[in-house]
Amino acid sequence: MNIHEYQAKELLRAAGAPVGDGRVVLRAEEAKTAAGQIDGPVWVVKAQIHAGGRGKGHFKEADAGEKGGVRLARSVEEAEMEARRMLGRTLVTIQTGEAGKQVNRVYIEDGADIARELYLALLLDRGTSRISFVCSTEGGMDIEEVAHSTPEKILTLTIDPSTGYQPFHGRRIAYALGLEGGQVKQCVSLMGTLYKLFVSKDMEMLEINPLIVTKAGQLHCLDAKVGFDNNALYRHPDIAALADETEVDPKELAAQKFDLNYIALDGEIGCMVNGAGLAMATMDIIKLYGAEPANFLDVGGGATKEKVTEAFKIITSDPNVKGILVNIFGGIMRCDIIAEGIIAAVKEVGLQVPLVVRLEGTNVDLGKQIIRDSGLNVIPADDLSDAAEKVVKAVRG
Ligand code: GDP
Ligand code: MG
Repeated sequence: MNIHEYQAKELLRAAGAPVGDGRVVLRAEEAKTAAGQIDGPVWVVKAQIHAGGRGKGHFKEADAGEKGGVRLARSVEEAEMEARRMLGRTLVTIQTGEAGKQVNRVYIEDGADIARELYLALLLDRGTSRISFVCSTEGGMDIEEVAHSTPEKILTLTIDPSTGYQPFHGRRIAYALGLEGGQVKQCVSLMGTLYKLFVSKDMEMLEINPLIVTKAGQLHCLDAKVGFDNNALYRHPDIAALADETEVDPKELAAQKFDLNYIALDGEIGCMVNGAGLAMATMDIIKLYGAEPANFLDVGGGATKEKVTEAFKIITSDPNVKGILVNIFGGIMRCDIIAEGIIAAVKEVGLQVPLVVRLEGTNVDLGKQIIRDSGLNVIPADDLSDAAEKVVKAVRG
């Protein structure tokens, strides 16, 4: 789960990390009052979307030369004007894709005087199964380019969980970042604070880009991007409450409500599968036959007819879906339940696209019988290859 920058900064502030003073606003009319509560003389107005690259992003239907999603304002009136220019519009960044994201909130913050922009992140490194610090002197909006062209400018420091964070880690980071004097001590303390926050909130990623040195020589978190481990969210109701449903694909949201493992993708073949491994194999074989999957969906082992119905409805609600492949290997899952779920869903929402069904395993004959008796226009398939070939043919001809 991801949260907005302003929410991440609230967590940082509560943990004792140096962040600016800011207010989030949902309506432009609130912007002037909000800015008035923050010391000037410069304010920053920042679009709040769950994607990075806002500074270099652009709004849809932008005027030539119009700035992106991070703008400086020199008066409270200007802050209001910038907020009004952003709210309700769609911001396209390198991370949103072409569709962009609608800006529903902006964050107004006291502007910082920047001497240096550094990069800092903590992440759960799946390769080492450990938490790593990643840092670079080349922070700011071009970090992707740095990682690509001059990876030697990025230091990765892996933390042994048996010792956890130690001050020497912080000193190594400070030297790598070219900090000096009192900044080293600040860095050691800040890294400790961030590490503790990362672990205690079960984060997957905590990125401060840029971490800045102000002209007064202080370390300061200017941006914050945080992702949490969904599987640990049950331990953090306070974090779960920060979810912004407008940022989540509505299909994924519906899937969450019914406890389905669903991930929306860009292709045209909707898949309903049981078991994550089989779902991965199904996506692979669709690609092998020349098409693209529209989603990953694992209905799970003990799915009920209602759950299968919901799953099918989610798949058909995707306008990109031009064909559906149901691939069930019934072990714990029974084929007759899948069949009943499909029929119930089709009764409710209809079926506008070709449907290929491959059933195998527990109660397979009963499942096939139910589908035959329903009179549904289903293309039966014998095995995985046969099913993929048939659905791709039905869609692409
Ligand atoms: P991102 O583009 O989504 O990563 O948004 P950031 O919050 O990182 O802001 C992008 C850039 O805007 C930063 O790298 C800074 O150069 C600039 N910026 C952000 N806040 C301030 C500020 O308070 N003062 C100044 N002068 N520049 C800022
Ligand atoms: Mg940034």
